[in-house]
Amino acid sequence: MATTPRMKITYATLSADNEELQTSFDAAVERARAGLGRTYPMLIGGEERMRDETFEDRSPIDTDVVIARFPVGTREDVRDAIAAARAAFPAWRNTPWRERLAILRRAADLISERQFDYAALMALEVGKNRLEALGDVEETADLLRYYGDEFEKADGFVKPLGSLSPIESTRSVLRPYGVFGVISPFNFPMALAGGPAGGAMIAGNTVVLKPSSDAPLSGWKFGEALRDAGLPDGVFNLVTGPGETVGAELQENPGIDGMVFTGSYEVGMKLYRSFTKDYPRPIITEMGGKNPAIVTRHADLDEAAEGVMRSAFGFDGQKCSANSRVYVEKPVAAEFVAKLVEKARDITVGDPTQRETWMGPVINQRALDTFQRAVDDAKASGGSIALGGEVLRTADTERGFFPTPTVVTGLPLEHRLYRDELFVPFLVVGEVDSLDEALTEANASEYGLTAGIFSHDDAEVQRFLDTIQAGVVYVNRRAGATTGAWPGIQSFGGWKGSGSSGKSGLGPYYVQQFLREQSQTVIGDEPSGQ
Ligand code: NAD
Repeated sequence: MATTPRMKITYATLSADNEELQTSFDAAVERARAGLGRTYPMLIGGEERMRDETFEDRSPIDTDVVIARFPVGTREDVRDAIAAARAAFPAWRNTPWRERLAILRRAADLISERQFDYAALMALEVGKNRLEALGDVEETADLLRYYGDEFEKADGFVKPLGSLSPIESTRSVLRPYGVFGVISPFNFPMALAGGPAGGAMIAGNTVVLKPSSDAPLSGWKFGEALRDAGLPDGVFNLVTGPGETVGAELQENPGIDGMVFTGSYEVGMKLYRSFTKDYPRPIITEMGGKNPAIVTRHADLDEAAEGVMRSAFGFDGQKCSANSRVYVEKPVAAEFVAKLVEKARDITVGDPTQRETWMGPVINQRALDTFQRAVDDAKASGGSIALGGEVLRTADTERGFFPTPTVVTGLPLEHRLYRDELFVPFLVVGEVDSLDEALTEANASEYGLTAGIFSHDDAEVQRFLDTIQAGVVYVNRRAGATTGAWPGIQSFGGWKGSGSSGKSGLGPYYVQQFLREQSQTVIGDEPSGQ
């Protein structure tokens, strides 16, 4: 695989005028296209395992294009992967943590070196534009680095405690649990496979990953980087297949000591409720969002329109942090909507591997149906379609799933389109009389993932920060009203129905969740008398 010079692209990167970046990406797309359609194995205990039955990973850009084929894994495959992970655990746990970190840092460097190739495949696999795909790959590498750095800063989480006598010494040691199951979603197919798996492995656990069936190749590529970095066999295992069997076996099998799930509220809550068996096992569920932005009369409306546009329509509204509802104060509502529509109208929708494209397709037909239903529902409920509401059906787009950026106004604030996570480029804008009303509406949601405000009044900003129920909040952020967190820069985790742990990914308290505390008191010999 060709290596290209490293460039740091984050989700807040606004433009990429860098010619070298553009040509490197174009070349990587060519290489990626030349290698499409292969059949990949699962990874179990360092062995590659095939199955007669495979499923096709097709591109949402053009469903005639088969990205890859993967085995339909079975419960037996999951059981074997868990057994391999259990067998690998003692040696991995006992590997000095500096050595563990060195391997995972090597993997991070390999991912960065291969960023263009991995991102090109991801763009084809899930429809991200080039900057978003490069960001996802680079985030994966930075997650490994950041969690490793945090582990190192804490000196491996060994801490001397107090003592009640001169012959007694006690230390607190955080120790790994054993085997973590990781179930990842389609929308950050490398970062949300690699981040949780990386956190678990840095802490000394071993892992069985089940990637999304809409994006197994990005998960597989993460495994490839680990293998090439010299990760011992069995520390990372990957089983592909349906959530209903492969995911369910992971959840039910007593050989799993902990779980990280990232995905929808429905599946996450089901897992959360049923994961506890004979005794509690840790489970982190990172779930959906219905993320509000508030625009007050003290906002810079240009800044607000730009920030909302980027967060509502970036990756087609398919980020868990996507901005899907706006509460704007009445006196500035018309001007705000006009500016938003003007900006969003300029969005180029199409093949996301093309340089000029900002919005690609949604992931599958189900998502397109959700979009269509939302548009129909908005119209039937008296809403106005201020922009979009269409599905592109040109010769270039008819075999993919291409909704247009859509802004709806005029719906009652209690309408379901202000409550349900849709995960498509569909934004509702409602008018409010005050910041307090906006905050009440913003918090009247079962979700609490991200939120943003646009106001240049300090008291308003403080009130927002004090009151808003969300794990990730932004003030006056042109680069994204509610989106664009980065490891070590913004912690990322949900409150309420958006997440279970209260300790966020990408942040300083994450890696500890893969460890359990042991207090070790050792009584030494009495000092010998004179
Ligand atoms: P999803 O819930 O459909 O699938 C997530 C994963 O769960 C997939 O790997 C899927 O195969 C698996 N799964 C499905 N049914 C299962 C079952 N019964 N048992 C075990 N596993 C099962 O979600 P998705 O469509 O891939 O991703 C989009 C969702 O993820 C959105 O709701 C989004 O908000 C959420 N998300 C949240 C975060 C966050 O950090 N909070 C990040 C990204 C995505």
